Amino acid sequence: DDTIVEVKSLKKYFPIRSGFWKRTTGYVKAVDDVNLYVRHGETLGLVGESGCGKTTLGRCILRAIDPTDGSVVFNVDGDKAVDVVTMEERDIRPFRKNMQMIFQDPYSSLDPRMTILDIIGEPLTVNKMLTRRQLIDRVEELMEIVGLDRKYLRRYPHAFSGGQRQRIGIARALATNPKFIVCDEAVSALDVSVRAQILNLLLDLQERFKLSYLFISHDLSVVHHVSHRVSVMYVGKIVETAKTDELYRNPKHPYTEALLSAIPRPNPHVKMQRIILPGEVANPADPPPGCYFHPRCRFAQDICSKEIPEFREIEKDHYVACHLAEQLMLQGVEI
Ligand code: SF4
Repeated sequence: DDTIVEVKSLKKYFPIRSGFWKRTTGYVKAVDDVNLYVRHGETLGLVGESGCGKTTLGRCILRAIDPTDGSVVFNVDGDKAVDVVTMEERDIRPFRKNMQMIFQDPYSSLDPRMTILDIIGEPLTVNKMLTRRQLIDRVEELMEIVGLDRKYLRRYPHAFSGGQRQRIGIARALATNPKFIVCDEAVSALDVSVRAQILNLLLDLQERFKLSYLFISHDLSVVHHVSHRVSVMYVGKIVETAKTDELYRNPKHPYTEALLSAIPRPNPHVKMQRIILPGEVANPADPPPGCYFHPRCRFAQDICSKEIPEFREIEKDHYVACHLAEQLMLQGVEI
């Protein structure tokens, strides 16, 4: 089995409490019946507008927050599968070394009062008993791996540029030798020129350490560049998953088509009609019946407002949740 993590029927519902007794009056369905898998050494891109549940999904997979239902089965070494959703708290702690997260904002995710040595070394002091010398050696090694000069060991985050701070965040994530990393908008806050350097660093590290990434981003150009396969999320649900080129050239879900149509194209001769969706993104606390996308979908039929479309494989490795997927002729893009 070459799957490092498999997510099945994952749900995260946040209760809405109101009134004097703070009774639960409803739920925000932030993650609503999600299925996905990531193979060893693979990058799965996860795209969707802000607020669609991408970050909550990433955090549930790492069990940084507890899912409401479903399973997240890790198979780190390829021989022993474990479900982190049902894992006891005391077992989670040592297991966490296998999975890490890289955050969007390198400015706010680093403690300004800690030196680079303490920031990068912190995960090692939690998990392992290292002497001070061993700790310094390991941190220096990590700095070298991410392209930071080891002479900065005792400096503070404010002395670094945005790109360097993201390198610090990456070194910290690598400290425990993880195999699976959730990159949450990891390059979104960076300048375009720095962004390419950090993306290339992530790709190099993936090859060197056989890392698997869940790469969360709202930027479809970036996701295209780094991902082997891509999943598209809308209001807590995954509506489409396919190999990257297939998804971009041959989308099967109308929402994917609309997202693709909004990618800025460097070549103005390549025409794709921009699709402006009517209305607002559905409210995850009160989603419409049937397909959550139906009030905005130009293809919607009767069935769409009545039945939730099943997420199904319609071609090899191409999954979609749309009643009419076989019949629609949607426009794709060449990037
Ligand atoms: Fe549109 Fe219907 Fe497909 Fe939903 S199920 S995306 S409303 S065609």
